Amino acid sequence: MLNIKIFGIVQGVGFRPFVKNLADAQKIFGTVANRGSYVEIFAQASEEALKKFLDALQTKNPPRSAILKVDVKDLPDKNFSDFKIIDSTHEAGDIFVSPDIAVCEKCKEELFDKNNRRYLHPFINCTACGPRLTILKNMPYDRERTSMSDFPMCAACAEEYFNPASRRFDAQPVCCNDCGPEVYLIGNGELGIGNWDAIKHVRKILAGGGIVAIKGIGGFHLACNAKNFSAVQRLRDSKTRPTKPFAVMFKDVAAVERECFLSEAEKIFLDSPQKPIVLLQKKIGSIAQNVAPDINKLGVMLPYTPLHLLIFDFPDDIKNFPDALIMTSGNPSGVPITIDDDDALKNFDYCDAILSHDRKILLRADDSVMDFIDDKPSMIRRSRGYAPLPIFFDGNKKISVLALGGELKNTFCLAKNNLLYASPYIGDVSDLRTVEVLESSIERMKNLLEINPEVVACDLHPRYQTTKLAEKISSALDVPLIKIQHHYAHILSCLAENNFHGEVIGVAFDGTGYGLDGTIWGGEFFLCDTKNFERAASIKPFTQAGGDKSSREGWRIAVALMKDFELAKKLKLASVAELNGQKFLLEKNINCVTSTSVGRIFDAVAAILDICKVSTYEGEAAMKLQAAAERSDKNFRADFLTTEEIFNEVLTRRLDGENIFDLARFFHESLAEMTAAIVEDLSRESKIKTVALSGGVFQNSLLSSLTFDKLRRRGLKVLRHELIPPNDGGICIGQALHVVKLKIGG
Ligand code: ZN
Ligand code: ZN
Ligand code: FE
Repeated sequence: MLNIKIFGIVQGVGFRPFVKNLADAQKIFGTVANRGSYVEIFAQASEEALKKFLDALQTKNPPRSAILKVDVKDLPDKNFSDFKIIDSTHEAGDIFVSPDIAVCEKCKEELFDKNNRRYLHPFINCTACGPRLTILKNMPYDRERTSMSDFPMCAACAEEYFNPASRRFDAQPVCCNDCGPEVYLIGNGELGIGNWDAIKHVRKILAGGGIVAIKGIGGFHLACNAKNFSAVQRLRDSKTRPTKPFAVMFKDVAAVERECFLSEAEKIFLDSPQKPIVLLQKKIGSIAQNVAPDINKLGVMLPYTPLHLLIFDFPDDIKNFPDALIMTSGNPSGVPITIDDDDALKNFDYCDAILSHDRKILLRADDSVMDFIDDKPSMIRRSRGYAPLPIFFDGNKKISVLALGGELKNTFCLAKNNLLYASPYIGDVSDLRTVEVLESSIERMKNLLEINPEVVACDLHPRYQTTKLAEKISSALDVPLIKIQHHYAHILSCLAENNFHGEVIGVAFDGTGYGLDGTIWGGEFFLCDTKNFERAASIKPFTQAGGDKSSREGWRIAVALMKDFELAKKLKLASVAELNGQKFLLEKNINCVTSTSVGRIFDAVAAILDICKVSTYEGEAAMKLQAAAERSDKNFRADFLTTEEIFNEVLTRRLDGENIFDLARFFHESLAEMTAAIVEDLSRESKIKTVALSGGVFQNSLLSSLTFDKLRRRGLKVLRHELIPPNDGGICIGQALHVVKLKIGG
């Protein structure tokens, strides 16, 4: 008899029924059970049958499962007379929680099949699809430990749930029109309108140009017709979000292709079970101009819940329902996504309807966002569909870590053994409401993954809310707290993603981060490994005057760099009063800090090119500068040693009347060239031949691609991000990795 343990994503993906069917087909006797962290099989049969069985287990496993390790032991035979799925028991160990999975093709067919008993059921799902992480209380993954425990199965659903031949066998969220959760409207005097009537009502509002809040898998979305300028504008005004791009959900791939260019690689991710938002190159089409103003890309996703499908395609008498809807996180600006009805009523009073449902969301999960660089994915926000799948890093000692991450785009990370589990997206933690959500999400994930931190890690910044929370948690748990420099954590996250153990030259280009010397860092060249780092070089320091405003208002940086107020006035970088104020601050050294932030250099260049003087959202100036550069087909650069020289050259040429798109391009090319030259020097001195690129600035696909290319031409190996964001959403992973590695060093 064989005792087989299969580790990986084997829970909530139909793994046990798959094993049972396989065993039955090959006349194998024994049992299969969920063990929390793995599936355990006892299998008894002829040697040949067992060999086939073992092989099939690893090659024919269900599409959503992922096998990471198989342990096989030979044991004496027992008295089995059939093959049984036995109840879950619980054992501690490495735990793999499945992310939420988009509705599958088979369920989609059934949803619109009049003869199916789940016809138009907004919560249809099966062993291959449906919510997982967001409805889970504890492991192992069983119905009683999910928010589906509120919905006892009807006889027909129970029949499928317990029948190994059914494709809903052992599917925890299984339900139907009789026994499942219900959708309904809340607020605006529409209380009591439920189910199909609620969906029809919402369709009518959306078709008529209204705004609707819709509860989904990981939180509420705000939706309106993406081709209706005034609807989009009203949403912008209500949400106080003047220009930040909105994501668009298209009815299907054909609708996407009418509005955007879609490569094969992009299509695979767009239509994958994770269904992230993918940034696609826009065509000249009919999406309203104010959806993603002044940038060349559009954030696009496909319907991923049955409710989304019904909103697009419900068989009612509404003609010409839009094939593209804005689907943006339903949250007040800067605060985590709304998940319950009370908050929805408070937050969405400007909506024409609020469509909710009674299946509880236990953990928030925003949509993931992905760009493509050189035809490879480049994650911008890793959340729904991906979290909490762990990142593997070989050879760690057994130590459990909680890493709190950064302040903006916050995620946190729990680590144990060789696994680094990053949470779904939390948001901007400078708001105290977000801190509360962060704290409760940590509790839930600790519980789910059964990790009791022995060390807490956080950023070095003394005033980050995450630092304060880390101090609180570490003293409550009475465990050590380790603070890690922001940009080093960025580079570490890149090493973690690439499972790279050696020394690298780390290039961290970023917005803002607290440096070891108390100045603002963000254009750093490190010599480092997972345990230590040395700041070998940085871009030329400049003065950031004006406090918080200086990180949003690029003209302030431009003024400091050009040191010529008359010229600044001539260029109308700001009003005369503002320029005088800035002059005063700089001359008297008031509210001034020294900075090496590359993000701010982008802001300054965007300001002097009159592309963006003041950002209304993080990264706006840089995104617009990139978009401008992409409109130039010139390929020219100059060799400069410092960012200040590059800035001055752009300024001089601008005054000579050169085209701003060409100058935006020139800036990108020159910055990449300068970077590669600095790295080349460092490599020659240090003999390190591997470079890791990280930090939010490398979200810029043009800069990333140019830098990558120039480094490779110099014979260097380049590590980049693909599925971990280069921005602050990734640094929790770097922090956790450092702690884990420090421990090994002892
Ligand atoms: Zn399905
Ligand atoms: Zn049912
Ligand atoms: Fe950062």
